[in-house]
Amino acid sequence: MNTEYLLQLADKNILFVAERKPVVMQKGKGMYLYDTEGNKYLDFIGGWAVNALGHSPQAITKALKKQSSLLVNCSPSFYNQAMLEFSELITKVSGLERVFFCSTGAEANESAIKLARKYGQKFKKGAYKIISFENSFHGRTLSTMAMSGKNAFKPLFEPKTQGFIHLPLNDIDAIKKNVNEEICAVILEPIQGEGGVREADVPFVNSLRELCVNNNVLLIMDEIQTGLGRTGKMFAYEHYGILPDILTLGKGIGGGFPLAAMLAHEKLNIFEKGEQGGTYSSQPLGMAVGYAVLQDIIKRNLADNANKIGNMIIAQLNGLSRKYPIKDIRGKGLLLAFDTDGENAARIVDMAFELGLILNSPGPSSIRIIPPLTVKEKHVFSFMEILEKVLKSVYS
Ligand SMILES: *Cc1c(COP(=O)(O)O)cnc(C)c1O
Repeated sequence: MNTEYLLQLADKNILFVAERKPVVMQKGKGMYLYDTEGNKYLDFIGGWAVNALGHSPQAITKALKKQSSLLVNCSPSFYNQAMLEFSELITKVSGLERVFFCSTGAEANESAIKLARKYGQKFKKGAYKIISFENSFHGRTLSTMAMSGKNAFKPLFEPKTQGFIHLPLNDIDAIKKNVNEEICAVILEPIQGEGGVREADVPFVNSLRELCVNNNVLLIMDEIQTGLGRTGKMFAYEHYGILPDILTLGKGIGGGFPLAAMLAHEKLNIFEKGEQGGTYSSQPLGMAVGYAVLQDIIKRNLADNANKIGNMIIAQLNGLSRKYPIKDIRGKGLLLAFDTDGENAARIVDMAFELGLILNSPGPSSIRIIPPLTVKEKHVFSFMEILEKVLKSVYS
């Protein structure tokens, strides 16, 4: 099938939700994607922080092959072996005792909203309000859109789910002023990913943790983007030396397979029959993939690799910033961003793509770098070579 024909199918059949480039991706291997014309792209967004192990990694293809010949699905009425094996691994690694599995990040955050409200009902006289942060992103279901602090979401799809209060990040006084008997939880991205790679600072998170304990408020960490090695530690909460009460994971957990999870402390094992579930909750293929991906991240020390290569990228970008107007180089591990002079981000992303490098711009002036955790030094050199070519033609 030729590309032109495939693009006609796109025009004719696909419901519009996003502007996409007129190329059709056909296969992926390691750090590279290939389109139907045979063009090769160095992938520095890894499916938006999803392809933790790169494209079509052995861990995933092997797990899918084995599990799909054993058991594809058995309904949520039964436990399955893969689910129990994965539950043991992920609760051990995270330090949270209970896990609920689902398919997408938004669904994991919906579960966290429900669990926080359940906690409020049971232990805090019906408290149901949740504090989240300006510029945060928590998903695209109606409730997670309402919880997100993204300005572009504000006018959409009224009426909104009620009960979310948006406060500025890193401002503990704003939290103090707003915490009361009606608040059941605070939800925080340790580093805001879609918001442009903005970090919650250490004193703020430590004060927030204490404030939550003192006011019987749950601390939910949305580590859908930051979790599982991405920031140079297994979980970003380790940078602060704290544990959340509820943790949501997605993206990298399945390495590209639709998988997500909500973890919680033992005291939050409080859902009653019928209150939460899902046809694909703990679906065996996802469980086998999740187990294989997490084992691989541990075995290959990919959090350390994220830290090492992330530092190398930061050093290289600092070098570039002496020649070209790029600034505010920020982030941790392999969740990095920098700002460009003027609103040039979209142009830079387009030009890089033409030269075979995939980047992302979360805002008109910022470029985000979120490659697979398996990225090597040689890929960073190729990335820098193309980026410098682009910056040269934009700024001179
Ligand atoms: C991507 C993301 C989500 C939503 O995950 P989906 O799988 O797209 O539903 C939620 N929170 C954060 C921090 C994310 O980065």
